[in-house]
Amino acid sequence: MIFGALAFSLFVGRYRARRLARVADQLAREGAAIGPTGKIGYPDQVLLKSFERLAARIADVEAMATTDVLTGVLNRQATLKLLAGEIERANRYARPLSIALFDLDHFKRVNDAHGHVVGDRLLAHVAARLQASIRSVDAIGRYGGEEFLLVMPETDTEGAARSAENIRRLVASTPMTLEGVELVVTLSAGIAGSAGTPSLALTALLHDADVALYTAKSLGRDQIHTYQAIDEDAGVARAPIDATARSQATQLGRVALDAANQRLLAALSQRPGWAGGPSELIARIASDMARAVGLPDGDVERIRAASLLHDLGKLAIPDEILSKPGELTATEWRTVTEHPKIGQVVLEQAGAIRDAAEIVLHHHEWFDGRGYPHGLKQAEIPFGSRIVAVADAYEAMIAGRPYKSSMTHGQAIDELRRGAGIQFDPELVDLFLMLYGRGVPTPRRATVSARRH
Ligand code: GH3
Ligand code: MG
Ligand code: MG
Repeated sequence: MIFGALAFSLFVGRYRARRLARVADQLAREGAAIGPTGKIGYPDQVLLKSFERLAARIADVEAMATTDVLTGVLNRQATLKLLAGEIERANRYARPLSIALFDLDHFKRVNDAHGHVVGDRLLAHVAARLQASIRSVDAIGRYGGEEFLLVMPETDTEGAARSAENIRRLVASTPMTLEGVELVVTLSAGIAGSAGTPSLALTALLHDADVALYTAKSLGRDQIHTYQAIDEDAGVARAPIDATARSQATQLGRVALDAANQRLLAALSQRPGWAGGPSELIARIASDMARAVGLPDGDVERIRAASLLHDLGKLAIPDEILSKPGELTATEWRTVTEHPKIGQVVLEQAGAIRDAAEIVLHHHEWFDGRGYPHGLKQAEIPFGSRIVAVADAYEAMIAGRPYKSSMTHGQAIDELRRGAGIQFDPELVDLFLMLYGRGVPTPRRATVSARRH
């Protein structure tokens, strides 16, 4: 409540300040048009001057509110606001728009080796370099600690990749001297954007850039990478496997998604509409509207699924409250207003399997960097992937494979030891030996616990 009131008064304050600034600006311009020999008398001149000063002060305050103190570029909030505006414009006029998310490579090391003061100054230098390198139509902001977001209107991802690459090269090739220390810093960047299809969304765009940035880091840093959307029809992207196998893999993904949807809908299906029961009418209207504005099929389907499940969170609200004929008490009303958040929590849990994707992607990386698909090494390999790699190898040795006969527990352990530091994380091999030196108890059938830790 207090925060609400505060936010509201800030909002009103800012709105008034803007209006005042416009009035002052207008007056200043009228004054200039009349000129020094014009009809404005002395008191008006004084008034005009003070209005000019006021306009300048308001402009300063506005600049302070949108500038990052350390680096002098736009702050996070201002950057996101600007990006949201550009997205709206790009969508409305079907224009291209791209972003590049820059992250300093191994910046922690700079802090560790030279201290935070040098780190801070380096950040400011990099920001200045970025600011000086961009076109006048672009905007750069500090997105997080050592991350900068470059917004490029009217630019498709190819153009954006070229600009980002130029910036990367410039930064990497010009050392900076700070407090007598010469430092070379490199940047990685993730590019995302659209060539003008009117369906860009802020969170999706940032997510895509972040995924691309992660790939740039994985592939060795000091490089840019453009987000590649997985072609929904191609399913498993770019894999040299035959069409049947590929469609089976895609099919399995769809089946899993359907199963999750069906389970959720079944939990709601017996409930009346006011208690969260799914409504075909709402789903029909929502998907018709989504299609009518030209959204792609994937988005239409997502909106349809969401419209069926939108009141899912009401499962957690007591029926006495939901079905109460009279007016709700303040406490009851607060309970009811929790339902969108509860719905989100349920769906996030269902979607948490997505987090396994990264572990799956990297489970064949080798500790020494000779594995696939990205040749990551040591701590670059997600911890979960390193664990799965050990467990997977052990199982393959014990159970055998069509092309390989099985080993004893002792032989398998020797093999893991031999691979420590090469194929496997040596600390995890030690852990395995500590836990299972004398053998692994036979587990029962595979399930995944639904409990949260
Ligand atoms: P990489 O991105 O290449 O994976 O490695 P990194 O070391 O840059 O990445 P990580 O995200 O692990 O660490 C980022 C570090 O940036 C953590 C923190 O020490 C430093 N950092 C973030 N914000 C600031 C800041 O405002 N000032 C200083 N001096 N350091 C900062
Ligand atoms: Mg970072
Ligand atoms: Mg970094």
